[in-house]
Amino acid sequence: MVVAQRYGKGQRILVTGGAGFMPSHLVDALLARGCTVVAIDNFVTGSKNNVAHLAENPLFTLVEADVSDGLPVHHPAVAERFDAIMHMASPASPKDFATLPVEILRVGSLATIHLLERAVTDGARFIMASTSEAYGDPLVHPQPESYWGNVNPVGIRSVYDEAKRFAEATTMAYHRYRGADVGIVRIFNTYGPRMRPDDGRAIPTFITQALRGEPITVHGTGTQTRSICYVDDLVKGILLLLDSSETGPVNCGTEHEVTMRDLAELIVSLTGSTSTVTYLTRTADDPEMRRPDLTLARERLGYTPSVPPEDGLRRTIAHFSAHLN
Ligand code: NAD
Repeated sequence: MVVAQRYGKGQRILVTGGAGFMPSHLVDALLARGCTVVAIDNFVTGSKNNVAHLAENPLFTLVEADVSDGLPVHHPAVAERFDAIMHMASPASPKDFATLPVEILRVGSLATIHLLERAVTDGARFIMASTSEAYGDPLVHPQPESYWGNVNPVGIRSVYDEAKRFAEATTMAYHRYRGADVGIVRIFNTYGPRMRPDDGRAIPTFITQALRGEPITVHGTGTQTRSICYVDDLVKGILLLLDSSETGPVNCGTEHEVTMRDLAELIVSLTGSTSTVTYLTRTADDPEMRRPDLTLARERLGYTPSVPPEDGLRRTIAHFSAHLN
């Protein structure tokens, strides 16, 4: 399956959360295609630094606003019609679940509705960033899109899991009953430059600890697994979904599954650190394993991730070394 490029020069794309880690890489890729990009961000977890290199780019506009309050249509760049709307905004790290619970629920629910209304008005394709967390602590492994998940609706992760599940349901409702052109991507653990060193996710935490020579703190016994995807591979998948007419949900990530213990040891070795690995109490509802079944992405989008973990981790370590001080 080969998906032809549908969005490029002359087309206007709205990216919510555009100053965040992953969405800022998406913005770079859209600009490289010649698209005009408007990013809306309230910087709750993102940073202007992530898009500072675009300040002089005439195709890029950064608008500061909270999309849960509606679109800031008083801004001329937002008032003009969009060809595609990519809803990437949401705090996403486990640390944020405890510090920004209501913000997460609002951006998954209210913002999704505001943006879908606008997508219908503009006749724009709408892409929603969902998550492997939609599967909760999965009882099926690896996870195909047809698996409905095992989510604790009142657990500490539920603000995120259920916000994304609500956003998926809303996206499908606008597609079925309002004719919206939509695509839902279920994103699995993604890493790369521009992650926040203190966001609580395993890779930035381990890299920061290794670079500082501090003990690497693994939760539980370290036998729990995640599949880790370098951000360029994820952006490639999201763009394929944008260009396609697939509704999804479609998984995106890699099938490369590592235990937290092996990941910690790999990072120690790649950084040449003297850090040792220590084990802390496991957090509640932490999923035991996560790996996407990528059959659908391969067959419908022609998606194949290509960055080996050692390469992706080296690039991420280089970024962290340059920015830690
Ligand atoms: P991030 O926190 O770096 O990026 C999210 C961005 O959204 C930030 O810039 C933040 O300031 C902005 N934002 C949040 N709420 C907002 C609001 N109400 N109005 C305007 N801007 C707002 O996180 P990320 O890891 O880059 O994740 C990006 C998207 O991908 C999220 O939707 C997340 O749920 C999804 N996702 C990421 C991963 C991953 O492994 N990184 C996995 C699954 C899903």
